[in-house]
Amino acid sequence: MRPSFSFPYVLSSWKVFLTQRAQSTQRRKTPTRENGARGIRREKITAIRCQSSAAPSKGRHRRGSRCVPRSRGGLDGKRRSSGVKPLLQEEQSCLCYAFCMTAKILDGLKIRDEIFAELKIEVAQLAAQGVRPGLAAVLVGENPASQMYVKSKVAACEQLGMASWLHTPPANATTEYMLQLVDDLNRDDHVDGILVQLPLPGQIDSKRVLEAVSPAKDVDGFHPVSMGMLVSNRPGLVACTPAGCMEILRRNKVTVEGANAVVLGRSDIVGKPMALLLLHANATVTICHSKSRELPEIIRRADILVAAIGRAGFVQADWIKAGAAVIDVGTNKVSEAGEAERLLKNFPARLEKFRAKGSVLIGDVHPDAVSTAGALTPVPGGVGPMTITMLMSNTVKAAKQRRGVRK
Ligand code: NAP
Repeated sequence: MRPSFSFPYVLSSWKVFLTQRAQSTQRRKTPTRENGARGIRREKITAIRCQSSAAPSKGRHRRGSRCVPRSRGGLDGKRRSSGVKPLLQEEQSCLCYAFCMTAKILDGLKIRDEIFAELKIEVAQLAAQGVRPGLAAVLVGENPASQMYVKSKVAACEQLGMASWLHTPPANATTEYMLQLVDDLNRDDHVDGILVQLPLPGQIDSKRVLEAVSPAKDVDGFHPVSMGMLVSNRPGLVACTPAGCMEILRRNKVTVEGANAVVLGRSDIVGKPMALLLLHANATVTICHSKSRELPEIIRRADILVAAIGRAGFVQADWIKAGAAVIDVGTNKVSEAGEAERLLKNFPARLEKFRAKGSVLIGDVHPDAVSTAGALTPVPGGVGPMTITMLMSNTVKAAKQRRGVRK
């Protein structure tokens, strides 16, 4: 049948065409969080041209530039009301904040590879002197996550040419059994580091077991003696996760001295040692916890933020000072679809992966912080790989200290 091109038909087609074109133009012009200022997916943006005629710099904004919105009620408004001056003149005039700032990614995997390469050389040099650093791991019961962690620690030892031993007491092991095992490992001269994988089953007194580990072999840095050495800024074995965070800052040349650092979380294994390390590096440190008031205001003053609270996406993007360095220690498994959609609405590729897998790892910092922070550790792939790396580093350090090797 031949199509009819009557006048009413042509008119209505023309109207439909005009409406669709207007909508599509509007979509392109309106910068939404989903499409960015030029219809580019946010995840792909590294640099775009500023849309503001009032912006003082008319060139392309590069990664980490500090544009903040003038018209949004977010950061800028709050800064003004709190009386804190904007960081840069540019902040007062640029309108393109949400779309032109993408944090530098602080890649933990890359640093892990660098440190592994250095450790490999060191282990080979020690071997030439007849010293083979060795780690004894104790894994009680059959917790799958713990099994996986211990397996990767043993594999890392093998990769570096270090010795390793795995002890696997049954899930019903007693505190006395564990104390005896730790005592045997303390006496074993081949063992430089002892790692007791946590959590231990409820019937075991974890504190007593950890305190039984010789401080000279305390490669986890959990012993009160190790903590005391850290408090008084004396050389010793430092808890691996905070030590790894410091390496991330150091190797990315983030200035710590004089910086306002906020540590969110005060656990013995992350928050407290992290705050001490930052303090010894001459930062001005604020420690926050579940009873802290006005967290957003405190966090907004941070040049360096370390988040370690175990709450997925807790720290909102607009709590972060423009350009701040953000170390996200949190590793939270999110399996609820609504939560994943809320957290990843600007990251369609990650959301797709969630849908395929049924879960996703999210840090304590909202993923949107990539738009406000100057530098950010990804989750996964940021702090996580550093923890195991520093465990290896501590084992080599313990071997050298215990055996009196100087270099
Ligand atoms: P933790 O022992 O449970 O301590 C959590 C800390 O966060 C506590 O100090 C708690 O305050 C604080 N906190 C909880 N909710 C809060 C809130 N709403 N506002 C402010 N502070 C809050 O945890 P952790 O062992 O330090 O671990 C923290 C996170 O880091 C977890 O996600 C964990 O999985 C992750 N982690 C990752 C690695 C790694 O290798 N990537 C290593 C270790 C830990 P209170 O003291 O007042 O209760």
